[in-house]
Amino acid sequence: MSERHDVVVVGSVNADLVIGVERRPAPGETVLGSDLATYPGGKGANQAVAAARLGGRVGILGRIGDDGHGALLREALADAGVDLAHLLVTDGPSGVALITVDTGGDNSIIVSPGANARLVPGDVERARPMLGGAAVVSFQLEIPIGTVQAAARTAAGAGARVVLNLSPPAPVPDDVLALCDPLVVNEHEAAFLLGHQGEPALLARELLGLGPRSVLITLGADGALVADPSGVTAVPSPKVEAVDTTGAGDAFTAALCLRLACGDGLADAARYAARVGAAAVRKPGAQSSYPGAGEELPA
Ligand code: ADP
Repeated sequence: MSERHDVVVVGSVNADLVIGVERRPAPGETVLGSDLATYPGGKGANQAVAAARLGGRVGILGRIGDDGHGALLREALADAGVDLAHLLVTDGPSGVALITVDTGGDNSIIVSPGANARLVPGDVERARPMLGGAAVVSFQLEIPIGTVQAAARTAAGAGARVVLNLSPPAPVPDDVLALCDPLVVNEHEAAFLLGHQGEPALLARELLGLGPRSVLITLGADGALVADPSGVTAVPSPKVEAVDTTGAGDAFTAALCLRLACGDGLADAARYAARVGAAAVRKPGAQSSYPGAGEELPA
């Protein structure tokens, strides 16, 4: 019997391996860094954890490897209360992000998709009851695009609302764009899709012209813009002292999905999401910064 979920996330599960350095090495150079720190991450897992911490009934469709990282990643999702019935295990390594952060706070990241690359349309077929039973199904682009396409079609066909975060930026088939309600992008991702930068409200209207039912552009400390055929609405972000913005976009999208699942309109859901995004930048890390259901959010 499958429980009905508020949000099902179809996406990546990665181990973030972080080393602090004074400066990043030039080609051929070796530098010494800090102790290695290992954190649960991946855009899909981040969103699932964020939505579950906020009290949502959340499931994930994803793949981890049969290595030590996989065990850590499973535990982080389980601790947050995410339904793991469709967290699948692949022979071989889990997805990994190798991150170096220099003393100026700039980072360089290499992502090795590992098991995430082995999430295939056949996995979607087996997860059909979970996808069809969700109010909202959320996607990002750290898994194969054919799997995103299959799962988005399956979810929408069963009546679920499809939310796609175009991160990292990559081309998306028109039929997938047409299902997005909303398409969630930051300014960089919007510029990738449109081929130019511009004033956010104009970008939002142009993005709508690409076919999604609605659009949401996140603007960091400036909040977000919501656009649908009835117009464009600005949503401010609470003023907070930003310590680390890692994973803020994932927290924002997770909170948005959860409130949409509960029946909020897009602008109201975005107002709540901006508060959750702002809460997430007050603490270091991604999942470690996500607020719990009882926690007071910045206003
Ligand atoms: P991404 O991490 O995907 O680039 P953004 O940086 O736009 O996304 O952040 C997502 C959301 O997190 C913003 O819309 C906002 O609500 C919140 N946020 C991010 N940075 C800040 C900040 N410095 N102060 C307050 N809120 C922030």
